[in-house]
Amino acid sequence: MIGNLDPKVPSGPLAQKWQSHRDHSRLVSPNNRRKFEIIVVGSGLAGGSAAATLGELGYRVKCFCYQDSPRRAHSIAAQGGINAAKNYQNDGDSVYRLFYDTIKGGDFRSREANVYRLAEVSTNIIDQCVAQGVPFAREYSGYLANRSFGGAQVSRTFYARGQTGQQLLLGCYQALCRQMAVGTVQMFPQTEMLDVVIVDGHAKGIVTRNLVSGKIDNCAADAVVLATGGYGNAFYLSTNARGCNVTATYRAYKKGALFANPCFTQIHPTCIPHSGDYQSKLTLMSESLRNDGRVWVPKRKEDSNKPPNETPEKDRDYYLERKYPSYGNLAPRDISSRAAKEVCDEGRGVGPGGRGVYLDFADAIKRLGENTIRERYGNLFEVYEKITGENAYKGPMRIYPAVHYTMGGLWVDYNLMSNVPGLFVIGEANFSDHGANRLGASALMQGLADGYFILPYTLPNYLAGQMGKRPSTDHAEFRKAESDVRTKIDNLLKINGKISLDSIHRELGALLWDKCGMARNAKGLQEALGKIPELRERFWREVRVPGDGEDFNQALERAGRVADFLEFAELMCIDALARDESCGAHFREEHQTPEGEALRDDEKFASVFAWEFQGGNGKIAAPKLHREPLHFETVHLTQRSYK
Ligand SMILES: Cc1cc2nc3c(=O)[nH]c(=O)nc-3n(C[C@H](O)[C@H](O)[C@H](O)COP(=O)(O)OP(=O)(O)OC[C@H]3O[C@@H](n4cnc5c(N)ncnc54)[C@H](O)[C@@H]3O)c2cc1C
Repeated sequence: MIGNLDPKVPSGPLAQKWQSHRDHSRLVSPNNRRKFEIIVVGSGLAGGSAAATLGELGYRVKCFCYQDSPRRAHSIAAQGGINAAKNYQNDGDSVYRLFYDTIKGGDFRSREANVYRLAEVSTNIIDQCVAQGVPFAREYSGYLANRSFGGAQVSRTFYARGQTGQQLLLGCYQALCRQMAVGTVQMFPQTEMLDVVIVDGHAKGIVTRNLVSGKIDNCAADAVVLATGGYGNAFYLSTNARGCNVTATYRAYKKGALFANPCFTQIHPTCIPHSGDYQSKLTLMSESLRNDGRVWVPKRKEDSNKPPNETPEKDRDYYLERKYPSYGNLAPRDISSRAAKEVCDEGRGVGPGGRGVYLDFADAIKRLGENTIRERYGNLFEVYEKITGENAYKGPMRIYPAVHYTMGGLWVDYNLMSNVPGLFVIGEANFSDHGANRLGASALMQGLADGYFILPYTLPNYLAGQMGKRPSTDHAEFRKAESDVRTKIDNLLKINGKISLDSIHRELGALLWDKCGMARNAKGLQEALGKIPELRERFWREVRVPGDGEDFNQALERAGRVADFLEFAELMCIDALARDESCGAHFREEHQTPEGEALRDDEKFASVFAWEFQGGNGKIAAPKLHREPLHFETVHLTQRSYK
């Protein structure tokens, strides 16, 4: 089925590829669009924008999500902002600069043509959202305001206080509601996709479980779009919503879709530190805070237990400003996270357990006044105070890196189609445009670019050849997929052991964080690869899943997701071991520069790793590696430097 891993990048100059591709793509005429049914799994910014736009074009869309409303998709949590190359600040921004920052930010492990297109359509997103009424922050003059995010020397981040994701999602949801009202989009909330159905090599449907009634159903379509978000919760503790999981993409992988760069995980430098063994969630303090907050630790370890105001200026180490003078506190996330780990490993970390660094607003408050800081970040300061009981207007915040975003995902070509024809993947669920490290405020940009502006052009190109090919759900492949789903559910309910799902998931998360987290090495990864199958066996022998499958049963939902994490974690470690270089967030301790920065090996690893599932009948075998070589025609590969 796989054949050559062809990214189908159009020929021609970089800046003209997307226009030329659109000019030459096949179309579906308005009268024929209603004859096509499209499944969109996911209603976050990527899925919601895709469903609304396809509905508006006249396709019949069925959109699924496991929350009780599309408005509760994890996208709602996004705080800091969304990038776009509008150059409203007149500070030298351009499509090329956003493209270059993104390629460099990702440590030269992303596809040039996709990233250029992303930068190009970024400007349309802001216009679209403003037209929907998204209340972006404005300057006194009325112009849209901008701030800076990591890895950029311009201000190109549009924001709505610390609630950008929520406001964008409300805009998108309105567009979706309009389509629901006119009947082009049918919404299926509280419905979980548990398998993809492949008929004659094409994705033609899904199997779902209604999370309220337990009813298993089939749905056939002409194409399936997965917009199911990221898998950071493999680590148990992350900044992701508790429900985020890998099930949809992992099960598609087991049906033949390639999983690309699964080990590329973003660890965000500014999160509230972990405070106890039974904590189930970590909280992000948006990167936007680094516009005004200064990161420091005491110069001497002896001072790390003192209250911050007892460490005078001369005894403070503003280590990001010292190490990366040109970007300072806005160094990219992978670099800032590792720098925080380094000072904590040296014993200079602050707060309980010494796993924290200060993010200090004293200078900004002195310069701009408390009111300005409150206007910019008020809700984030409130969240911080609610969780820690500390007032960050009076003393510095304590922060520490935490798992936040996954650059890995299902492999897609330039059309956002996986190697399985008819299976499209958008938003965080695909292996995206961010290479080995995503820059702040670029995930919302990518999700909305995919949903509003790219998929609506590339999907018809596929559909144009599919008229009349939608199978009936009576097809044998639907019956088989449904029966497999039922068997898996029965097996989970039959385990009847004594240990909780959380305890085993927590153990998996701790192992991944330790061996496949901010820093990895071959020995640790091999150890993890020895332990994960043991954990999986214990899961299937000893875990307890109460209740039954015919009802609302959240333990059963979680059990299926944890079972998938327990398989997927192995793929992450296999990928991390195979990529014997450091790049971006993938920091292999064996490969670093004398200054401790990531040391790439472009000759051997300037490629996407895309894994093919091997196994079957409940067994998993070593996956097969396919590579997509990355060709850099416009940018020159250099050692990434933010100094
Ligand atoms: C705390 C936090 C703050 C962030 N802040 C920013 C920011 O300021 N700027 C930025 O650019 N990025 C930010 N990000 C990243 C960004 O929010 C996400 O990458 C982005 O919102 C993902 O959107 P999505 O549409 O791809 O997926 P999601 O929003 O995660 O949506 C996934 C959808 O898929 C559905 N789904 C999943 N699995 C199934 C299944 N099996 N069956 C049915 N439905 C399913 C869910 O119900 C949901 O509707 C932040 C992330 C976090 C965690």
